[in-house]
Amino acid sequence: MNIKFLGTGGAFDYEFSNSSAWIQFQGKNILIDCGNSVYRRLRETGLADQIDYILLTHFHDDHVGSLSSVILHHKYFLDPARKARILVPSQSFQQMIEDYVHFSLTDPLKYLEFFPVEIIPGLTALDTFGKHVEGMPTWAYCFESDEEILAYSGDLGDPNLIFDYLKTRPQKKTRVFHETSFHVTDGVHSYYQDLNHRVDEVELYGYHCDPRDEPADNRVPLVCRFPHLLA
Ligand SMILES: [Zn+2]
Ligand SMILES: [Zn+2]
Repeated sequence: MNIKFLGTGGAFDYEFSNSSAWIQFQGKNILIDCGNSVYRRLRETGLADQIDYILLTHFHDDHVGSLSSVILHHKYFLDPARKARILVPSQSFQQMIEDYVHFSLTDPLKYLEFFPVEIIPGLTALDTFGKHVEGMPTWAYCFESDEEILAYSGDLGDPNLIFDYLKTRPQKKTRVFHETSFHVTDGVHSYYQDLNHRVDEVELYGYHCDPRDEPADNRVPLVCRFPHLLA
């Protein structure tokens, strides 16, 4: 299992690009989120040609803003007959994706196809509905092999949900990539002080923040400081 981030910033941290991850799991290349800046990063890194599946956490621009460009890339640069493949955690989320893409592509199913996340053994979608923003469907994802577990929060807004889930899993090497906010008034992202103690439990990394705002008492290692985690 391998993970590289195409960006580690939040919606307004343009210097660090929108948070998005590239995960190699079960022999597949899986892109998590396609925010505004992500298609550009995919072209810069050469990864745009290698996407097997796309996973989405929620419908904020910094997570889906360049989705249509990524979808069309398949058709125009790879193979006119090739459709982008999106893994979906539920029927209603699939419908939301179709509706969203429909704004720019009149017939979405000409360009993309959907598969349930269950077709990838060991991939679990965690329903985080309403935790990030009231009433908004959001999803976190967990990748589990015989050897290890990797969890990706998306914009979760609840610093405990992933760790409660991990208690139900067998003990094995575990890495958690968690959105981290340094602003107590933020309210929609997980505050670093509520994550600090987790570094004693698992290998934890923070993302979706500007490292220049990092307070002195932050204990959550930030993805952007680890070159091996960056695409
Ligand atoms: Zn975000
Ligand atoms: Zn968000």
